[in-house]
Amino acid sequence: MNHEAPWGKWIAVGVILLGIAGAACAAGFALGVLAGPELARRLPAAGSTPMPEAATPRPRPSPSPSPTATPMPTPTATPTASPDGAREGPKVFAADLPDPPPVPDWAVGLAKGETADPDRPIYRIGGALEPDRGRLRGRLILSLPYREGPPLSAICFRAWANAPSSGGARLEVGEVWVGDQAVRPAWSGDRTAFTVTLPVPLRAGEEITVEMPFTVTVRGQGGGYGLMQKTPDGLLVLYYGYPELARIQEGRCVLDPPWENGDLHQAEASHFALRLRLPEEAALAIGGVVVREVAGPPGWREVEIVAPYVRNLALVAGEMEEITREADGVRVRGFFRSAKPKEARRAVADALDALRRFGEAFGPYPFPELDLVEVPLGGGAAGVEASGLIMIGEDVFGMDDLGGMLGGTGDLDIPGFVIAHEVAHQWWYGMVGNDAYREPWLDEAMTNWSSVFWVEQARGLEAARTAWDLLVLLPYRLRLAEGDLPLNLPTDDYSMLDYVAVVYGKGAWMMEALRREMGEERFFAFLRRYLEKHRWGWATGASWRETLAEVWGRERAEAFFRRWVAGSGITSADLPPSEFGALFEDPSLGPLLRTLLEALIEAGP
Ligand SMILES: [Zn+2]
Repeated sequence: MNHEAPWGKWIAVGVILLGIAGAACAAGFALGVLAGPELARRLPAAGSTPMPEAATPRPRPSPSPSPTATPMPTPTATPTASPDGAREGPKVFAADLPDPPPVPDWAVGLAKGETADPDRPIYRIGGALEPDRGRLRGRLILSLPYREGPPLSAICFRAWANAPSSGGARLEVGEVWVGDQAVRPAWSGDRTAFTVTLPVPLRAGEEITVEMPFTVTVRGQGGGYGLMQKTPDGLLVLYYGYPELARIQEGRCVLDPPWENGDLHQAEASHFALRLRLPEEAALAIGGVVVREVAGPPGWREVEIVAPYVRNLALVAGEMEEITREADGVRVRGFFRSAKPKEARRAVADALDALRRFGEAFGPYPFPELDLVEVPLGGGAAGVEASGLIMIGEDVFGMDDLGGMLGGTGDLDIPGFVIAHEVAHQWWYGMVGNDAYREPWLDEAMTNWSSVFWVEQARGLEAARTAWDLLVLLPYRLRLAEGDLPLNLPTDDYSMLDYVAVVYGKGAWMMEALRREMGEERFFAFLRRYLEKHRWGWATGASWRETLAEVWGRERAEAFFRRWVAGSGITSADLPPSEFGALFEDPSLGPLLRTLLEALIEAGP
C-alpha cells in the first residue's frame, strides 16, 4: 500500500527494530530478561566476581595417566550408550575419542601472502560431535607461549557455555594436567570461569602445555539468542563450545562476570587444529578450513580442521543444504535449512561481494574461506559473528517483504545489510580485537558503519539513505528525544535499548561524520592504518584516538573524539534528515514510542 497510517508504519518499524535492533549481533540486548526461572535458580546473579577455590597440584603418575581417585561411572563402549543427564566425567570417554591432531601447517588456513605468528596460544582438540544428543565431548591440548609480563602463578579459562545467555548449556571439564602435574580446576561461583594454579610459575619466554577432557552439552533450543542449541530435527549450534583461555593482562586473568548487553568476546587471537568425529550424514559448518576427511567407525566420519587466528571458533552441525561459490581466491560456503534457493544464492553472493569490497577498502580478508550459516537464532538477534563463520538468523531470510509493508521501500535490503554487518566483523572483532565488555563501540560502531558502506557501494546512495534511516538511526533518534549518551561506555552501563541506540546507531553515524569531516582519502587511510596497527591484537579507545591523531592531526582528532565518542552533546540536528525522525521529536509522542519499544523489547521472544 502507498498510504499507510503512521501507526501502520510504526508496527513495521517495531518489527524491524525487534528483528534487527541495529543488527544486534546476537549480542544480547535482551539478554537479561531471557534467562528462564530455572536458570535463575541455578546461577547466581551476574556481578559476582569469580572466586577461585584452593587448588592443589599433585604429581602425574608416569608414564600414562591412571584412573583418578574419584569414583566414576563405568565407561561405555559406544558414544551413545550412556544415560541422558548422568553426570559422567568427561574423562571417562577420553579413550574413545579421536586424538587431537598434531600442530599443522597453518598456511593452509590462511590466504596467500599471510603468515601465522607462532607465538600464539595453540588449541588442539580431538572430539566427537553428537548432534542428536546435543553435545561435544573432546580433549583439549593447549600450548601457551608466554611472551611478556610478570610471572604467572595461574591461568584461567572461560566457560561461556555456562553463562545465563547460553540457555541452559553446560560445559564441564575433567582432570586438568599442566605438563605432568594434575591440577584441580577451581571454578568461579557462577561456573563461567575456572582457574588452574600452575605447579611452577610461568615466566616470560617460557611455554606450558595444559590438557583437559571436556564435555559441552546443550539443552534443546535453550533460550537466549540460540547460540547454544539443538533443534528438534538435530541441528547442533555451538557458539561457546570449548574452554577458552582467559585473556592475561599484567600477569593476571581478565575475568569479568558475563555481561548482559553484547557478545561474550574477550579472547586473544589463537590458532586451532581439530579432529572431529561426527555422523556421516551431518554437514559441518565451522571456522577455518577442513583439510582432511576420513571414514570413522561405522556411521561416522572424521574431519580435520585448521583454523589460525581465531577469536571464537563456532560450529554448526546437522542436516543443511550447502551452496559454495568462489571468487577472487575466497570461498564462501553457505549452509541453509529454510531459505529459498534464490535467497540462499543471493546470500552467498552478497557475502562474497562484501568480502571483496571490504578487502579493497580496509585490507585483504586473511582466510581462504568464510562459512555463512542459516541458524534459528532467537531473542531478536539477526546475526552473529565468529572467526571465519557467520550465523544469519533464519527469520532474516524473507524479510525483504517488510520493504513492501513500509510503503514500497524497495531499497530496503535487510538480509544484505545483516550479512554485510557480520562479514565486516571479520575485520572489526576478528582481525582487530577489542574488549567487548569495556569498549563494545570499537567493533560494533565500525561494523555497523561498514554495513551501510556496503549498502552504499553495492546498492547505491538511495538504498544507503534508507538503511541509515530505518536500520541504523531510528533507535538513536528515539534516545535523543531524552538526550544523548557517551559512545564509549561499558556494555552494561546502557539499558538494552540505549545499547542498541548508542553503540550501533550513534556509533555508526559517528564513523560517517568522521568520513565526511576527514574526506574520503584520509578516512580510508585511517581505517587501513588502524587495521594494520592492531592486526591480530587489541585496540582500545585510546589507541583508536591515537591512530586518528596520527592520520589527521592531534587537535582535530581530540576535538572529534570529545564531541562524538566521549561527549554526550549530539542532537538530531547532527543527524541526516529522516522520514520518520520527526515523530521521535514530538514531545508527547517521543517518550510514548520509547516506552512502547522498550516494552516490546523486554517482552522478549
Ligand atoms: Zn555486530
